[in-house]
Amino acid sequence: MYDVVIIGSGLGGLECGVILSLRGLSVCVLEKERVVGGCLQSYRRGSWDLDTGFHYVGGLGKGQKLHEIFDGLGLMELPWHKMDVNAFDRVVIDGQVYDYAMGFDEFENRMSGYFPHQAHGIREYVDLLRSVAANIGDSEKSLPLFGVSAKQWLEERISDPTLIKVLCGTSLKLELTPQLPLYTFAQINSSFIQSSWRLKGSGQQVADLLKMRIESLGGVVKTNADVVRLEEDSVQVTAAVLSDGTRVEGKVFISDIHPAATMALLDDSKLVKRIQRGRLSRLDNTYGMLTVSIVLKDSGLPYTNRNTYIYKDVSDIWNPAELAQGRALLISERYDGTDHCRQIDLLTPVMWGEVEQWQDSKVMRRGAEYDDWKQRRAQQAISLAQSVIPALGDMVEKTYVSSPLTYRDYTGTAQGSAYGIRKDCNNVMLTLLSPRTSAPNLLLTGQNLNLHGILGTSMTALMTAAAVEVTDAIK
Ligand SMILES: Cc1cc2nc3c(=O)[nH]c(=O)nc-3n(C[C@H](O)[C@H](O)[C@H](O)COP(=O)(O)OP(=O)(O)OC[C@H]3O[C@@H](n4cnc5c(N)ncnc54)[C@H](O)[C@@H]3O)c2cc1C
Repeated sequence: MYDVVIIGSGLGGLECGVILSLRGLSVCVLEKERVVGGCLQSYRRGSWDLDTGFHYVGGLGKGQKLHEIFDGLGLMELPWHKMDVNAFDRVVIDGQVYDYAMGFDEFENRMSGYFPHQAHGIREYVDLLRSVAANIGDSEKSLPLFGVSAKQWLEERISDPTLIKVLCGTSLKLELTPQLPLYTFAQINSSFIQSSWRLKGSGQQVADLLKMRIESLGGVVKTNADVVRLEEDSVQVTAAVLSDGTRVEGKVFISDIHPAATMALLDDSKLVKRIQRGRLSRLDNTYGMLTVSIVLKDSGLPYTNRNTYIYKDVSDIWNPAELAQGRALLISERYDGTDHCRQIDLLTPVMWGEVEQWQDSKVMRRGAEYDDWKQRRAQQAISLAQSVIPALGDMVEKTYVSSPLTYRDYTGTAQGSAYGIRKDCNNVMLTLLSPRTSAPNLLLTGQNLNLHGILGTSMTALMTAAAVEVTDAIK
């Protein structure tokens, strides 16, 4: 019997695995796929490793939160690469260019340069980002900000709608809605403005290193281990049952998969009441992404060390459905250590309703209509990217396209949602989830609980690991 059985080898599951192994507990991670990492996975096509859900991270500078966490996990030995301090993110709104400078003072100066008449509002916004960075991890300070609408907060301080679009302009790494909590918006923006980093190579390195660390500490990471059921006695969960019938027993269970999928493993549970299962299964999810991974001909596209976010004819940036009409795009380059770029990803949001008609299909067998749709959407993304890289069309050697259905099938995420459960400032109690469930030894982790992204998921992993240590089954 293991001390801790972890379902899912996404970032949160693997991080919990390392933290708890370091504390001397025996750990077993169960992953349904052949490869660990969930959204961190990369997949190989020819000689190229293509990323699924990892492009850059924020807050990895010395003294910043992600640095502290990654240092403790042994991840700082990876080849991190600081992005352009003058313009790590570029926002292009209907052809007009705005660059994000790295560092709070530099960011404030840059934005005030673009919008001198809004200097006061910009100062208030940057003060908020500073305070969120300084108090990260302090729930007393952060919780009240979850109950405030980011949209309302910005609109009360900033009268120029273009500036609001610019401050929201890097937000394809979250989902903007009128209900988006101010804390989610500020925490993500603050960490990337503090400092932004890429990896030389793919995000898979993060997952592989965490797996190696668990194994070197005596833990086990099993791939092709699809958990189909959780067994329980009258007191607690006793075993995770795999699709081949294998039972993996443990004292504590951590689920790193979507809470709705976790609840589906607990059919007829007496420990987790039907009402809690129903509530967790019905929560809304954020939109998914269409990712066009492009391998470029060796034609000399210079590596620019920044991301570019493009918006075209967007009237309401807080309306995900409008952005998902092909009007918003993130261009992210892969850093391979040279000053040329051979691989770029184009990411554009997609609402579930657009792909729902093919929801019963399986990978590679979704039919001609789906393939046509995918190609049409990919072409639309490439055309939008050409507004900033005009020669892109001639540089394409190969494209590989994934949709929310691909994400759903490879990561088990409900509706292929990119950033998990949609948070609602008007319903904080319902949409912010605790790692605890009503089964005393079943805990949750991962991006769906509080905050998504590499930093958010890592912070939640710390919370979940701390909760394990005070679980009666372990004490
Ligand atoms: C397109 C995209 C781009 C992104 N870009 C960035 C970025 O640039 N920067 C950033 O900070 N964040 C980014 N993110 C977010 C970040 O990748 C995620 O927040 C984070 O990786 C989620 O980790 P997780 O622990 O919640 O698990 P997940 O990645 O959701 O992994 C869950 C794992 O559980 C496994 N699983 C599911 N069901 C079962 C089962 N029944 N049995 C066993 N295993 C199971 C899955 O196969 C998967 O491996 C991006 C996400 C997406 C989708």
